[in-house]
Amino acid sequence: MNLILMGLPGAGKGTQAEKIVEKYNIPHISTGDMFRLAIKEGTELGQKAKSYMDEGALVPDEVTIGIVEERLSKEDCQDGFLLDGFPRTLAQAEALDQLLSNLGRQIDYVLHVDVDQEELVERLTGRWICPECGTAYHVRFNPPKVEGKCDKDGATLIQRKDDQPATVKNRLEVNIQQTQPMLDFYSAKGDLVAINGAQDINQVFADIDEKLQAISS
Ligand code: ADP
Ligand code: ADP
Repeated sequence: MNLILMGLPGAGKGTQAEKIVEKYNIPHISTGDMFRLAIKEGTELGQKAKSYMDEGALVPDEVTIGIVEERLSKEDCQDGFLLDGFPRTLAQAEALDQLLSNLGRQIDYVLHVDVDQEELVERLTGRWICPECGTAYHVRFNPPKVEGKCDKDGATLIQRKDDQPATVKNRLEVNIQQTQPMLDFYSAKGDLVAINGAQDINQVFADIDEKLQAISS
């Protein structure tokens, strides 16, 4: 099962990805998580990505495509994968298509999680994440059991620098601009599946799961 989870910042990609990979046992490939880890570890990739991320801009295509290409070549991706937050530009979508076709593979589904903009701002500015495992919580919509602590490992939750209100606006604008050409690209291929993301977290997953069961059975 080769899947893409697509949606604007805050749509719930990371939240749903966690449930999908647990049930379907495929690796979760999040370019945002890969960049954040590289920044934390101070690698060359982290240095390249940091200034873009801090401003809510996109990391250049060649850098991003390079890390995805390397990741997809790993053994654990051979039976399927879930891409989260990639592709984010038409150039990335085209590069991915080429890459997969060279390997004799293709995308099965592009799950597009749709949520309106006002709701996205509220989700992003209320998001708190675990710096250890990356799990996202929300002050109102998805609070941790103990305030300020991760349910899984007890680490103290933090707010992402790019979830500040000023950066959120820029991120949404940048991403909105890039999204439509990609949706058109996948829609023309017949891969696009619309998911209503403006529902309770478990209901969104139930809708995704229903679609996935159809291809995995
Ligand atoms: P993305 O990876 O698309 O940026 P996240 O999964 O991190 O999105 O979710 C963004 C924020 O919204 C988080 O604080 C998360 O807890 C919350 N959230 C996710 N899905 C929902 C939902 N269906 N309803 C309400 N809040 C949600
Ligand atoms: P969200 O979906 O909540 O915006 P991500 O964790 O997916 O968060 O992305 C965080 C940041 O990482 C983006 O704002 C961007 O700077 C960078 N990034 C992640 N994925 C890509 C990508 N495919 N292309 C370019 N930049 C990316």
